[in-house]
Amino acid sequence: MSLISDTLLQFLPAKRKQTPSGWLSFNAPCCGDKRSRGGFIQNAGDAVSYHCFNCQFKASWQPGRPISQKMNKLMRLLNIPDDVINQLRLEALRLNETSLGEVRSVIPTFDERALPMNAKSLEEWSTWIEMQGWENTDQELINAFCYLRNNRSIDPYSYPFYWTSKIGFKNRVIIPFYKDGVIVGWTARATNDATPRYLSEQQPGYVFNLDRQNLHDRAFVIVCEGPFDALSIDGCALLGAEIKDSQNWLLKQLNKEIILVPDKDHEGPKTVEQAIEFGWSVSMPEWPEGVKDVNDAVRLLGPLAVLHRIKSSAESNGLKIQLRAKQWFKDIK
Ligand SMILES: [Zn+2]
Repeated sequence: MSLISDTLLQFLPAKRKQTPSGWLSFNAPCCGDKRSRGGFIQNAGDAVSYHCFNCQFKASWQPGRPISQKMNKLMRLLNIPDDVINQLRLEALRLNETSLGEVRSVIPTFDERALPMNAKSLEEWSTWIEMQGWENTDQELINAFCYLRNNRSIDPYSYPFYWTSKIGFKNRVIIPFYKDGVIVGWTARATNDATPRYLSEQQPGYVFNLDRQNLHDRAFVIVCEGPFDALSIDGCALLGAEIKDSQNWLLKQLNKEIILVPDKDHEGPKTVEQAIEFGWSVSMPEWPEGVKDVNDAVRLLGPLAVLHRIKSSAESNGLKIQLRAKQWFKDIK
């Protein structure tokens, strides 16, 4: 018997019957069934299958295969704790030599990367400005400070932001990406309406601001889309609207409740669906008129009020999240 089939058996509803053909039948957790129409069977070689004869939901696993999204969903329906599910996912990957490649693709590694040429932190630049005087300072450098303070309501010294006078980068604030204290990438945000808005050096599976999540004693981690959203409330950022398997894996390692705050835009609903599949909570607070993301909200309400709203609107039940999303995304154009 494998750890996976064993754990599933442990978490199946206690009230169950065994049929002569080997199926265990019980009230199906997928659809609120009350007529014992959920079936679970253990086949040769530790393979397991679940079949709901009411709503037709099916999930299965066999050694050598990773845990599918459907199996993951079943495990959550059976109230198997997230950390146990995570352990089972890794166990599934470990079980077969041929799946070693998949383990590697889920557990990301990051190489050190260089920042754009001559980049120095705003802290260093501020010393330089004091020595040279404001009148001898590049307007673009002053814009970097103003952009953070005025457009983002972010203290320029609250994070090691960088700036460089290199052509093509002068009108940008550089945000280094750290992992275990090492710079593994960066994004450079235009401080004017230059395009692209972001120039980035980013490695696959990276989660922004992960290093700082163990510094505060929050029992949860807030995950947003963009770096300024994350910095506004000291959360993490996906740096896009899609949740990668490796990002899910990295965030799960924190052993905290993961709360996604989607951007209120066209890509938001897809991110929410993914979050549900990964077993995350999702928060879609009542934002003031015109607010599209966490940074917008912080500029209007301040970080404490925003944190409070995010926490009190966080929902972990997939069905309730879907209902809320329908309403929340209704008025986007
Ligand atoms: Zn069902």
